[in-house]
Amino acid sequence: MQRPNKADLLTVRRSNRQVIVDAVRRGGPISRAELSRRSQLSKVTVSDVVEDLIGEGYLRDIGPGPADVGRKPTLLEFVGVSGFVAGLEIAPQYLRVILTDLMGEAVCGDQRNIAVGSSQELLAAVCALISHMRSCMPNSPYQLLGVGVAVSGLVDYKEGTVLSAPNMPWAPLSLRDLIEGCLEVPAIIDNEANAAMWYEHLQGEAQNLEHAVYLSAGYGLGAGILAQGSLYRGSSGLAGEMGHMIVEQHGLACSCGNRGCWEMYASEKALRRLLGEPFSSPGAPPENFTRHVVQSARDGDNRAQESLRTVGQSLGQGIVNIASILNPQMVVLGNVLAEAWEFLYPEIVEALDGQGLSPVTQNVSVRRARNYRDAVVKGAAALACEASVAKI
Ligand SMILES: [Zn+2]
Repeated sequence: MQRPNKADLLTVRRSNRQVIVDAVRRGGPISRAELSRRSQLSKVTVSDVVEDLIGEGYLRDIGPGPADVGRKPTLLEFVGVSGFVAGLEIAPQYLRVILTDLMGEAVCGDQRNIAVGSSQELLAAVCALISHMRSCMPNSPYQLLGVGVAVSGLVDYKEGTVLSAPNMPWAPLSLRDLIEGCLEVPAIIDNEANAAMWYEHLQGEAQNLEHAVYLSAGYGLGAGILAQGSLYRGSSGLAGEMGHMIVEQHGLACSCGNRGCWEMYASEKALRRLLGEPFSSPGAPPENFTRHVVQSARDGDNRAQESLRTVGQSLGQGIVNIASILNPQMVVLGNVLAEAWEFLYPEIVEALDGQGLSPVTQNVSVRRARNYRDAVVKGAAALACEASVAKI
C-alpha cells in the first residue's frame, strides 16, 4: 500500500482543523466526545487538534457541562475575542465601519458623513476610520485579521476592484490592493447587496435558508443571490446586476447605456421621476427623499401613494422574473425603499398572485429586511470574519 506523502498529511490536518473550528464556533460549547461524534473524526485526532487550538488561543475549556450519566464532560468553546475583523460600508454620502470579534459580536463602530471625491481622499478616510477601530480593539492574540468592504457599485470580487460606483467619482479603483497596502491585513471587496444578503442569511430574515435573493432597492437597484447556502457571484463576481435587466424594450434611458432597465421603474430613481417637483427639491435633503415620500403617503398624499404603488407593481413584476430564474425560497427587500413596505408589499403580492397557481411564484415568500440600515456593514464584517476563520 502506498504511504500518504507529507503534502497529503498536511492537507488532511488542515481540513481536520477547519472541521473542528467550525463545529466549536457554530455548535459550542461542546465536549470532545460530542465533537468526535459530529465531526466523525477519531477521539485521538480531535484531542490532538483541540490541544493545538487551545495552545494557539482559538479554543478554551470552560469547565464541566451537564451529564446524562456518570462523569460530566469538559466543554470547549471558541474564543471569539482571539481576533477581530472590521466591516466597512462605502456609500456616496458616508463611510461606516464596525469592529466585530470572530463570533460576529460588535465591539465598536463609527460613521463619517462625507462625500469622498478622489481615491487619495477615500484611502485616507478609510485608513483613518480603521485605525480608530484598532484603538478601541481589546487586547487579543491576533488583533485585526481582516477587513470586509461593501460598496454600492459594480464590484469585481475576484480582482477586488470597484469598476463603477454611481455618485462616487473615485471609481474605477483597485480598492483591495490600496486598502491592503495601507492596513497590512487581507481585505475583501464586495458590493453592498451581497454583503446585506450574507447578513440576512446569518442573522436576518433568510436565516437557515439555502436559496434567497436580497434586493437592495435604493437610488438604484441591485441584488445579492444566496444559492445552496453560499453567495452566488457568477464567473467573475459580477452576478446580481438585476437592476439592469431590460423590462421594457423601448423604455427609459438608463445610466448604463441601455433602455428599459428594471431600476428605471423600481427604485428611488423611479420614484423621483414619477413625483418630480416638489418632492425632488426643497425641504428634505436628497438622502431623505424616500422617507419624505413615505411620510407624505402616510399623511394621505394621493400622488405619493400612487407613485409608491406604481414602483411596487414594477418591483413585483421583477420579483416574478427572479422567482422564475432562480426559484428562491425568499426575496428580501432592503435599502431605503423597504421603508415604503406597507405601500409596496400589496402590489408585490398582487404581481405574484397574478401568476395564478405557478408553483414557482406560489412558493416564494417576500419579506422586508430586518435591519437594512445595519445589514451592509454587518454583512461586510461577516464576510471578513468568515475569510479570517477559514485561515485558522
Ligand atoms: Zn441599466
